[in-house]
Parts: sequence; structure tokens; C-alpha cells
Amino acid sequence: MKINGNFNKLQDSYLFFNIAQKTSEFLKKNPGAPIIKMGIGDVTLPLPQACVDAMKKACDEMGVKETFRGYCDYEGYEFLRQAIADYYKEYGVDVSVDEIFVSDGAKSDVGNILDIFSDENTVLIPDPVYPVYVDTNIMAGRKILYIDANESNGFTPEPDYNVKADIIYLCSPNNPTGAVYDRAGLKKWVDYANAQDAVILFDAAYEAFIEDKDLPHSIFEIEGAKTCAIEFCSFSKTAGFTGTRCGYTVIPKELVREGRKIGELWLRRQSTKYNGTAYIIQRGAEAVFTPEGRAQIKENIDYYKRNTAILSEALSAKGIQYFGGKNSPYVWLKCPNNMKSWEFFDYLLTKCYIVGTPGSGFGKNGEGFLRLTGFGSYENTLIAAERIKNTL
Ligand code: PLP
Repeated sequence: MKINGNFNKLQDSYLFFNIAQKTSEFLKKNPGAPIIKMGIGDVTLPLPQACVDAMKKACDEMGVKETFRGYCDYEGYEFLRQAIADYYKEYGVDVSVDEIFVSDGAKSDVGNILDIFSDENTVLIPDPVYPVYVDTNIMAGRKILYIDANESNGFTPEPDYNVKADIIYLCSPNNPTGAVYDRAGLKKWVDYANAQDAVILFDAAYEAFIEDKDLPHSIFEIEGAKTCAIEFCSFSKTAGFTGTRCGYTVIPKELVREGRKIGELWLRRQSTKYNGTAYIIQRGAEAVFTPEGRAQIKENIDYYKRNTAILSEALSAKGIQYFGGKNSPYVWLKCPNNMKSWEFFDYLLTKCYIVGTPGSGFGKNGEGFLRLTGFGSYENTLIAAERIKNTL
């Protein structure tokens, strides 16, 4: 019996462990220090009431013989897929319900989609990046090429036609940098992917944070994307479903490789290894798209974005350069005085009692940067901003 030896190639994920350890060591030496955690990537506001009510109602239905439901369709209930399709229409994107696949979240889909692609494919991943893209491909033993996202390209790198890739990851709005591709930037990637017969895996988990009217929420707003892209989205950050679990993947019928429709392969994969997202959860997700749900998620997203605006304003006041902070819950700041990520992490912890996330944990180009998020409370964010202004 042999294990999958690729697991030996994975780097241990020390990032959040080290952050927790450094924070607790600091607290041991400075008991009661009023630490504020600004590195947090999880939401903190409760579920919108519209979702809670819908889930309660669904729960009751499950307790009655006539309305009880067992296994659901592998691709999700039509009521939710229809609500998602209608949402896409608002951005001028026409996707049909059978191009939408509901799941338990974007992380699972982003990882599981790799089942349907050969391990011989070469993968192109921006650096820095959400670590799941790298680790899932290492597990499969795929060759990984990196594309530099850095200050000079505003953390939105463009394709290089000298590089041949089969699978391309794009995340916009980006975790960790907060950078967002504009239409022209995405069009370059779509053209490149179509020219190479490659497939773009587009992670739109943070699309709901986009406020600039000109920025695309979906890669399918870009002409040509339907023949080269798969889009992943999630209710986690949109509606606080990180603990409730629901997401969806969109695979257009036009996406065909080696004569096979990619959407059909995905359904085959899902129907073999996944037994569907709970009815109660899908009803909760459906409620996100009702007028009440829309108003309530907007309120929560605005709350987080007010926090990022406060942080951004404090950094600007101190002349500290940052990316993101506007159409994203993330503020990606350049460590002052050329400090390294961990050095500035320590500085911020010991001088301001603020815990951030060192950028170097997201890839080599993250070195010298630090991620702050808007997911904390308004009150704590105000205090953190004051400390930054008074101390840095
Ligand atoms: N994609 C990105 C870029 C993320 O940052 C996250 C979570 O932080 C996810 C996907 C995971 O989303 P989900 O909770 O739907 O699995």
C-alpha cells in the first residue's frame, strides 16, 4: 500500500498556526493587552434574517411527510439555480439553469474540478494567491507555473503568450491582494485561453463586494469567455454562509474539450462523489436573492466595506501604500520602511496590538506585504485605525 506521494511535496501550512502562536506568546508576556484581530478571513456578522427565516421554514417542511425531501438533484434544486441565473441577467450574462451547479462551497468545487482534467496539464497560478489552488494541484502532481502579481502590474498580471498553460487560475476580487480585474484585463486572459485551448478557473467568491459599475462581476461578462472559462462563486462572503456552506459553479455548454462538454463531465463527477447540498441550506441561499435578502446582504457587505474604507483612510493618512480596500474586503498594504512581512507583523502586534496576516504566507510576491481585512467589528476597526494613525 502506498500513499499519494504528492502529499509529501505539500508545504506544511504554518501561516495561521504561526500567527496564533505569536499572538498567544505576546499575550502571555502582556496579559490583557487589547489585541484586535484584523487578519481574519471569516465573516463575523450573523446570517441575514431572510435566510434564517427561509431555513426555518424549510426545516419545518422536512418534518412533514408531504413536504419532506430526501436526496436532491446532484446539480442543486431548480429554484436556487433559477434565482442564480436571474442574478446573472442583472450583469447582462445569459446562463441557463443547466449550466449552474450548486455545491457546498467554492473551496470544494475549486479543488474537485481538477478530477475532470488530466494530471498531465500544466497549470498557471498567480503569486500571491489563495493557497488552495497551489495545494490541490500539488496533490494531483501537476506541473505548476507561476505568474508574478506585483506592484508593477497592480497585482493584476497579464498573460504572457510565451508561456503555455492548460489550466489558468484567476481570482477577482483577489484574495489576498484585493485587486480586481477590469474588463480589458480579463479580455486579455480570455483571448489567451481561447488561443491556447486552455481553461480559466475563475474564482468570483468576492464578486458581491464590487461597487464600481465598470468592473465585471463575472468572467462571462467578457466576450469569448464561454468557450474557455468556468466560474466559481459562493454565498460565504456574500451572505455569511461560511459555516452554513453553499456555493455554485457555472460551466457554459460552449465549453468543450476533446469533444466532451465540460459541464457534463462535472455533473458525472458530482453525481459520483457528491450527494447534493441540503434542501434547508439551498432554501436559505435562495432567500439571498429575494428583495429582503438583497437588502440585508447589502447592509452586511456595506458594514465590512466601511471597515476597509476606515483602514484604507488610516493607511493613506500615514502615506502607506496599499492595494484593494475598495471593491474587496481586503486591504493589502506595503510594509513601511522595506520591512519584511513577518517583521511588520511583529511591529504591528507589539506597537499597535493589531494582528494582520503576513503577505509572504500567500507566495513569494507577498513578501513585504501584509493583509488586513474588513471582517472585524466597526468599533474595533475604528480603534485599530486610530492606533495605526498614532503609532506608525
Ligand atoms: N475562494 C477564495 C478566493 C476564498 O478566499 C475563499 C475563502 O476564503 C473561498 C474560495 C472559499 O469559499 P467557500 O467558503 O465557499 O468554500
